[in-house]
Amino acid sequence: YEQEKIRNFCIIAHIDHGKSTLADRFLQRCHSVSDRDFKEQMLDSMDIERERGITIKSQAVTIEFNSVDGNTYQLNLVDTPGHVDFSYEVSRAISACEGALLLVDASQGVEAQTLSNMYMALDHDLDIVPVVNKMDLPSADLERVADQIEHDLGLEREMIYPVSAKTGKNVEELIEGLIKWIPSPGGSSENPLKCLIFDSHYDAYRGVVIHIRLFEGTIKAGDEICIMSNNSKYKVEDVGIFKLGLVPQKDLKAGQVGYIIAGIKNISDIRVGDTITLTKNPCEEALSGFREVKPVVFSSVYPVDTNQYEELHAAIDKLKLNDASLIYEKDASAALGFGFRCGFLGLLHLEVIQERLEREFGLNIVLTSPSVRYRITRQDGEVYFLDNPAEYPDPGTIELCEEPFIQADIITPTDYLGSIMTLCMGKRGIQTSMNYLDEKRVEIKFAMPLAEVLFDFYDKLKSISKGYASFDYEVIGFRPTNLVKLDIVINGDRVDALSQLVFKDNAYERGRIVCKKLKQEITRQQFKIPIQAAIGNTVISRETISALRKDVTSKCYGGDISRKRKLLEKQKEGKKRMKMVGNVELPQSAFLAVLKTS
Ligand code: GDP
Ligand code: MG
Repeated sequence: YEQEKIRNFCIIAHIDHGKSTLADRFLQRCHSVSDRDFKEQMLDSMDIERERGITIKSQAVTIEFNSVDGNTYQLNLVDTPGHVDFSYEVSRAISACEGALLLVDASQGVEAQTLSNMYMALDHDLDIVPVVNKMDLPSADLERVADQIEHDLGLEREMIYPVSAKTGKNVEELIEGLIKWIPSPGGSSENPLKCLIFDSHYDAYRGVVIHIRLFEGTIKAGDEICIMSNNSKYKVEDVGIFKLGLVPQKDLKAGQVGYIIAGIKNISDIRVGDTITLTKNPCEEALSGFREVKPVVFSSVYPVDTNQYEELHAAIDKLKLNDASLIYEKDASAALGFGFRCGFLGLLHLEVIQERLEREFGLNIVLTSPSVRYRITRQDGEVYFLDNPAEYPDPGTIELCEEPFIQADIITPTDYLGSIMTLCMGKRGIQTSMNYLDEKRVEIKFAMPLAEVLFDFYDKLKSISKGYASFDYEVIGFRPTNLVKLDIVINGDRVDALSQLVFKDNAYERGRIVCKKLKQEITRQQFKIPIQAAIGNTVISRETISALRKDVTSKCYGGDISRKRKLLEKQKEGKKRMKMVGNVELPQSAFLAVLKTS
């Protein structure tokens, strides 16, 4: 342990600019992984990250680097996600570091999250090293991107390291550079222990594994620790650092990043952002922790099999440990039984949680249509928040209904300006500013209802700008709106789980699309099934699924047995994910279909 040879840094960038690829290269250069064991996206350990090619969780890893100056440095690298839904993960990673590599794609240039991530790093007083990545691309334009880095970000162009994370070109020089520019951590290993919980995960055998950054003091196995916010005490069983697995150490000292295992089974004791100290010699004051996360999308999660309720509860508890931004409370539905009302940071976050519940915990679940949180003022003056359509009151009792607005920050080549303005205005956006960054790029800001951005805004923006426009947003407050509750009636039964709160002018369109989607998703049955969308008692849209006439397998003409069997197996598989609503079987996909309506 030589404190002055430690560097704690994170890699921040707009999505797809190459953070995970650069982290891979670092691991290889520092021989943390043999060529035989190497696979792409080393640090993206969840299946879902590898499949989607995105980082969801921040990951820490310790690597050793032999510098040309003759010293061996201990580098703690934290890879971070780039998608706007996960900026909370970025802010946590930043709190564990002294410096950041700010990556900019050499052909794309500075984008919306390049800016927001840099501001976040500056807020935490990190030293920033600008890196231009993907220099191997024929379309790489170092001069133009260097201009942007100088002009938009206010960083010096002489500081820029042009690299290719893909080929490894200049990566060695970059590591030497970050050792030079990023300071070693402060603090003293003699002081009372003060460490920050920046993440944690649950291990089936060892209980809670707490990810920590030590700011002061020393910790070792056998110490009694105290978690400052709730004063719970534990005996430390093991401490260590992250390589590609957990590597035990004799102790951890000020400035280091690593883990603590202390036989903790009570998950709710551990909160990300909390401070850990020693009972024997406690520090005086806790670290400042993190800004509280505010979920913006709400949806209820139900087990398909009502017997799995307890299992779902345990699974959500464990996910919460690894994802502090997830919030939840108990919920009940007439159609779906007992479940949980959950808050998410965005639709991608919702999809990720859904997939993790299914994959990591083997649960079959359905999610109800997501909603933003509205502010309702009743005629008697009472003000409250509402996100669950099931709790929508008698419209006659409402004095004022307000919905959350965001400020959307879009950077685009000027070619697409017109169509992006049309898109934003179609989503009830109001332009608040326009700023030409240079002659080819413009930054526009729009005030827009969050509910309009949630669904297909991001995809549309990407497609009309051929992928060139980038987008970031923050919630700015509430504005008056005209809200209605759109109900879905299937075969005469109002299905509470499919109700949605929608802007009145969008209700007809939404109702029509939902009915149509449901018609595609619900399999024909022995009887005719009417599907209706209604506001109060007024039916605004209708579709009918005609009754089933033939056995499905008759399509196979009896000849091809294996095909017939496959079809039956497929049906059986599908059945497992069915939910009976009244006397109609709704497949899980029906609930999902309502999520993405366009
Ligand atoms: P992240 O979202 O910032 O973590 O980006 P990734 O590391 O997942 O990279 C996004 C895409 O860019 C992947 O397809 C990478 O293979 C590609 N990529 C990353 N670095 C380079 C590079 O230096 N050159 C080229 N040509 N492609 C790169
Ligand atoms: Mg990544």
